[in-house]
Amino acid sequence: MSNRQGFGKAKEGNGITFFKVGEDESKRFRIFPPKGKLANSGTWAVYHQLHYGYSVPSPNDPNKTFFRPFLCVEEKDGDRVIVSCPECRKIEDTRRISEEQYSAEVSRCLALKMPQAQAEAHASKLIENHTIWLNGEKGFGGHKLDRKWYILAMGEDEQIGFLIIPHKAKKAIDVQKKKLKADEGIDLLDIDNGAWVEVTRTGNFRNTEYSANIVQEHTTVNGVRAKVTKVSGFTEEQLGCALNLPDLDSSSLVRRITRDQVRMLTEGSGAPEEVESILNLAQRVERKEESPRPRMTPPVAKAEVKVEPKPVVPPIPHAEIEAHTPLLKTQPPPLDPQAAAIAALQAQLASLMAAQAPAAPKVPAPVAPPKAVAAKDLSDDEFLSHFGPAK
Ligand SMILES: [Zn+2]
Repeated sequence: MSNRQGFGKAKEGNGITFFKVGEDESKRFRIFPPKGKLANSGTWAVYHQLHYGYSVPSPNDPNKTFFRPFLCVEEKDGDRVIVSCPECRKIEDTRRISEEQYSAEVSRCLALKMPQAQAEAHASKLIENHTIWLNGEKGFGGHKLDRKWYILAMGEDEQIGFLIIPHKAKKAIDVQKKKLKADEGIDLLDIDNGAWVEVTRTGNFRNTEYSANIVQEHTTVNGVRAKVTKVSGFTEEQLGCALNLPDLDSSSLVRRITRDQVRMLTEGSGAPEEVESILNLAQRVERKEESPRPRMTPPVAKAEVKVEPKPVVPPIPHAEIEAHTPLLKTQPPPLDPQAAAIAALQAQLASLMAAQAPAAPKVPAPVAPPKAVAAKDLSDDEFLSHFGPAK
């Protein structure tokens, strides 16, 4: 037997590929049909809204931090907000206050006969902390809500992963998909006879545009050169690889945290160690369709678990969180030891935060993000873990 048999191939990055279409770039993709739990509903693309701006310490280098994006917890019924997201509110409030302070300062300076440009520079300096909190520094590290479509696809190099694109690009693909079906009877996503689509990005910032085109190939029919749609099927190996990747709505692809955790992040200092402990609080958000854990022990009114009296942050109930049901501060502590440990940790964290934020203003003055890491300083692995899936 050869010693070689005991070795495998090195895994690249964290094992999941994310495709993005960069500025003035064109990339070709073969999109997979819906799989896993989404196969029945025919869902081949899922829209995720992720909050960026909170970082955790790097386990290897104390001078570096990693972003840990999480899903927005806002839920809407039409235009009516059923579950409000604390981070969305904080972004709105910070933006509003920042604009108000800016205008007021410009007016004040102009009244003192300061030249317009100088007044604006003065006002910009005044709201600098808000600006950094919202937009980051050098376009990196801001608190923003990133809205994107996630699509399971294969790239031209036969790498299989997730295509992440904005709504404009998804709409462009939808148009081509519909047209291909109507004109040629081809299902773009068909497992055996689907087609490749090329996504092109042009312009930048607010003028960024996306277009999509069905990939054509040259062929000769009866001696005449013609362009036809390039049709192909997936191999068993490619399908196996795709099946092994998380479903588009899976928590292992996008991090889900509870509304309480989001609130704790917005009320906290933003220090990476604190962010990490909040994110590490047990995940109790189970989507209803994701087979929630059965309730093992019902909560009882008087449990034999010691927690700090009247914790600022209510303990997470044992079963899945009904985020739209307001949690009462008098809620009995959970019974099982794990939940009790979480409650104790939350209480500890809450008292820590209370000590740090004495007056608890409606909108705490945002602090500059700690040690934003420039993308160029990161290794590929580190970069991936910035933007990679939940861990
Ligand atoms: Zn939100």
